[in-house]
Amino acid sequence: MTVYKLIAKLLKFKDFRCNGLAFRRGNRLEVLVKPYKNGCRCPECGRRGRIVRQRSEVRYWRDIPVGPWSIWLMYWPREICCDTHGRVTEQLPWSEAGSRVSHRFEYLMLRYCQIMPQKAAAQLLRLPASTLSDLLHRTIGRLREGHRIRGLKTIGVDEISYHKGHKYATLVYDLERSCVVWIGQGKARAAIDRFFNEALSDYQKARIQTACCDMSQAYIGAIQTHCPNATLVLDRFHIVKALNEAVDEVRKEQWREATRDERKALKGLRWLLSRHSSTRSRRDTQNLNALDKHNRRIYRAWRLKEEFEHFWTYQAPWAAERFLKQWTKSALLSRLEPLRKFVHTLRRHQDAVLAFIGTRVTNAIAEGLNRIVKIVKNRASGFRHLDAFSDMIYLTVGDLDLPGQIPVRFRTL
Ligand SMILES: [Zn+2]
Repeated sequence: MTVYKLIAKLLKFKDFRCNGLAFRRGNRLEVLVKPYKNGCRCPECGRRGRIVRQRSEVRYWRDIPVGPWSIWLMYWPREICCDTHGRVTEQLPWSEAGSRVSHRFEYLMLRYCQIMPQKAAAQLLRLPASTLSDLLHRTIGRLREGHRIRGLKTIGVDEISYHKGHKYATLVYDLERSCVVWIGQGKARAAIDRFFNEALSDYQKARIQTACCDMSQAYIGAIQTHCPNATLVLDRFHIVKALNEAVDEVRKEQWREATRDERKALKGLRWLLSRHSSTRSRRDTQNLNALDKHNRRIYRAWRLKEEFEHFWTYQAPWAAERFLKQWTKSALLSRLEPLRKFVHTLRRHQDAVLAFIGTRVTNAIAEGLNRIVKIVKNRASGFRHLDAFSDMIYLTVGDLDLPGQIPVRFRTL
């Protein structure tokens, strides 16, 4: 076996062979390559064309590193004349036209970035982190180009902050296939309108059966306008959160008015009150029941919250509706202003609240995906620009398997 054959075997060259080697400074190994079959094809249509220029300028492509060596493929691309596309640079089997790295490098880069911070991936791939994020952006842009959303039936809409809690993005999820299908800047009506106008056709919009979102009027309004056949479901966890906040509001009011001695009994209540009954110890329940003596108003708010848990267990919509009617009545009679406010919100969106009983759709899947997104965000210590953030979201929880877009024979993991 000659050295060149060995190199070709080690690097798994298939369509091309090694024709020379050069060890350069800075642990750089240049591999002179030559396409194996003498086929000069057009990158646009794949048809053979006549060679019009044998050697143009030399070009380098970064390949995956071996040991301490960063590998560079070196080649003089030829120019050909295609009947349809005119004078073009020939198609190269190891990389996409115009790319500075090989397919194999792209594949490894995508896989690394899925599981580790870009900084670590850059170290393993032996290139500066800024170059990596630039390459990543280009690769993902190219792979997602022309990609259309397909088979969307159940969608979830939620917001996420991506930079120090001041900049927001709107995420649209496919709740059936549990992935993110769209990311847009901002959380206002304009953001979500852009999704419906740009990403979906009228047919696709009509096909959406269920849409789940929080109580934001922007999202509710957009769904009602764009999805004529969709059942709107208010997300269960957002409703529970709003109720917990109302109860906490009552607690805060009482805290402000309490004397020093009274405050002793109210200490440590904040987390206790927001707990679901199933995650509470017996001691906690005793403490909460003791509130009856110390502070009637907090006790009443907590009882109402506790009763509301029952709502989610109903199977029949009519029974749930009856329960909701009774519950809102007693909540209104409670004379607790924050809870009355909550009741008014519920009543405003009553159909969307009741829709949960029939559909059982929640944004729980979206919350799960958000957890992954948050891990990605934290390990990068936040993203200044949405572009870099949405790259990572599409890569980790997107609807298109990005490493899967690289041809099989170039996949190394
Ligand atoms: Zn062509």
